[in-house]
Amino acid sequence: NTSLQEDDKEIYDLIQKEKYRQFSGLELIASENFTSLAVMEANGSPLTNKYSEGLPGARYYGGNEYIDQVENLCRKRALQAFRLSSEEWGVNVQPYSGSTANFCALTALLQPRDRLMGLDLPSGGHLTHGWQTSKKRISSSSIYFESMPYQSNPETGYIDYDKLEENANLFRPKLIICGASAYPRDFDYPRLRKIADQHGAYLLADIAHISGLVAAREANNPFELCDVVTTTTHKTLRGPRAGLIFFRKKKESDLENRVNNAVFPSNQGGPHNNTIAAIAVALKQVATPEFVNYAKQVRANAKALGEALLNYGYKLVTGGTDNHLILWDLKPLKLTGSKVEKICDMVNITLNKNSVLGDVNMVSPGGVRIGTPALTSRSFKEDDFVKVAEYLHRVVQIAIKVQEKAGSKMMKDFVVACQDVEEISALKKEV
Ligand code: PLP
Repeated sequence: NTSLQEDDKEIYDLIQKEKYRQFSGLELIASENFTSLAVMEANGSPLTNKYSEGLPGARYYGGNEYIDQVENLCRKRALQAFRLSSEEWGVNVQPYSGSTANFCALTALLQPRDRLMGLDLPSGGHLTHGWQTSKKRISSSSIYFESMPYQSNPETGYIDYDKLEENANLFRPKLIICGASAYPRDFDYPRLRKIADQHGAYLLADIAHISGLVAAREANNPFELCDVVTTTTHKTLRGPRAGLIFFRKKKESDLENRVNNAVFPSNQGGPHNNTIAAIAVALKQVATPEFVNYAKQVRANAKALGEALLNYGYKLVTGGTDNHLILWDLKPLKLTGSKVEKICDMVNITLNKNSVLGDVNMVSPGGVRIGTPALTSRSFKEDDFVKVAEYLHRVVQIAIKVQEKAGSKMMKDFVVACQDVEEISALKKEV
């Protein structure tokens, strides 16, 4: 049994480089976080060797005595983390990722070609919520089901619930999905439930981004009114990469069997037991007062960052944030998200370009998404984020200058024009 370093130096060295990259720069991608050593230890454990198709107590393979205990513990902790009673709610902890969890949930709730409505991608929704363009069905959630996305109001950036209600009256969906990847505000669950009930539709909340905030009572509680709740485990929840599906144990709709069967055998094979153990470790941490403080700080930091950028005179979608992220509209500066992301990369700040409402070209989004969960895990406080805002202000000023120097809007000219710009190397040193 040789170590990774001895066995495969190439991969070992790349891991060391990535580790250095993660810790030497400013990590602002809203969907990322730094998980704990304990989580990584469970994730890298011998549990990865075991096959265990099925559920605890009902497996298709022998030798699952300990694996059953791990999965049961994970299920118990998942319910506890969100204060759910096992009488009313159940959870499947086997989905390999958030996308898989969502497709399993659709498999459980819908028949092929049934109708669903989810938040449109340019409004901040996720691909798996029925994403399609006017020309093409892109996500399997729009290929196998009929999708009619709903949007945010272009003036305010907030979800247009009135329009959603109007369109639902025409489309009569069987499922409404709420939740988002790039929406800086919370969700109006009572309004969504009311609209769903008008059509006898299910309501599914995908809380992938905000699950840590929900667990810490720092966001509205979707469990009060939704039938199914899905989440990833690696964003604000700070666990390994995976997904969870919570379902209401209503006898008449038998969601328990439908969800469990949708995961296995409909969409997945053997569960990744190492990951399930790592989720359990993360969920134990979520139940601590330290985690509640962490979630509060994530929001306070996002607010401080947003306010600092507003003070520089920049435009944020919805004018601010209620959660862990901000969406910065760069169109008034005549910049694209790609250009700002590029300069950020050059100075060791990691964030991502993001479409904002009103973009004409999906390939060249007009904004960037910035999140606070990862740097809050590295103990950043409000003052630190005011400093981050100053760095981002400098990045944007550099981008404006470089764009002028490039004399064209083309990305390749922009990259060439970045060469020998002193402010870039100066900022990199400071970061
Ligand atoms: N749902 C939402 C709201 C997300 O933001 C994401 C990913 O960013 C997913 C689902 C998909 O998760 P995964 O990348 O684990 O498949």
